[in-house]
Amino acid sequence: MTQPTLQPEDDVARALDVLAGRRLAVLTGAGLSTDSGIPDYRGPDSPPRTPMTYQQFVGDPAFRRHYWARNHVGWAHVHRTRPNPGHRALAAMEARGVVVGVITQNVDLLHEEAGSRNVIDLHGRYDRVICLSCGTVIPRAELAERLEALNPGFLESVGEVGDVEIAPDADAVIEATSHFVPADCERCGGVLKPEIVYFGENVPRERVERAYAMVDDAGSLLVAGSSLTVMSGLRFVRHAARRGTPVVIVNRGATRGDPLATVKVDAGTSETLTRLASELPTPRLAAPEGGFSA
Ligand SMILES: [Zn+2]
Repeated sequence: MTQPTLQPEDDVARALDVLAGRRLAVLTGAGLSTDSGIPDYRGPDSPPRTPMTYQQFVGDPAFRRHYWARNHVGWAHVHRTRPNPGHRALAAMEARGVVVGVITQNVDLLHEEAGSRNVIDLHGRYDRVICLSCGTVIPRAELAERLEALNPGFLESVGEVGDVEIAPDADAVIEATSHFVPADCERCGGVLKPEIVYFGENVPRERVERAYAMVDDAGSLLVAGSSLTVMSGLRFVRHAARRGTPVVIVNRGATRGDPLATVKVDAGTSETLTRLASELPTPRLAAPEGGFSA
């Protein structure tokens, strides 16, 4: 199964051959944001971690309190992160018509911040909170102020954010959270939940359909920084492969999509995407056929 003689450099050259002249749909995962300081808990060197499930969150008030205490710390960390060269390379390729759009499994909004315009936040976004009873959506920043008022001194008591473990879902690990007071919906008293898709929860159907449409609109699918562990991302690779659309995967370590990949580049996303952005030509047809009217 190993390919000891094949170097990543050769693979990048093969990826350039496959992608040249095509418009790309891009699927990104946690591996893309590690260079921004957000750890990838599914990466090859990551410790095993049991993700929180939707059922745990809605079913157990103690679990929810613990979650919000950790999120109160982790959120501030994600809020301060900045896009890295991988995000910027994708935004630059979109600006000149190489990239159709980005489907991301990340909730950190770094694509948007880097300047990508056509982004599908498949698993939601960290900066919004939704009431599970009445559906009211509020900014996470607004909730931060309420949590701070309900728990004065909490952030100081857990020390510098840099000292705690930060997870991709704005989840920071803190031991003593039993005294933390979570906030309920101000309108109806219902349970508040980050507008993020958790394990055991489905991605909204409309969002999935838009993502399929983006893949169908492109001439190839580029996967960057995802191990494709969960079906929510893997299904787009299967969809592309079924249609005969070339799939290029850039990821450190094996992915579940490798058997379907036209080319697999086992390398970091920042350097690889930067190189793709500098060497991929602008497709001759910069808009979908029939996309313009006179
Ligand atoms: Zn409510």
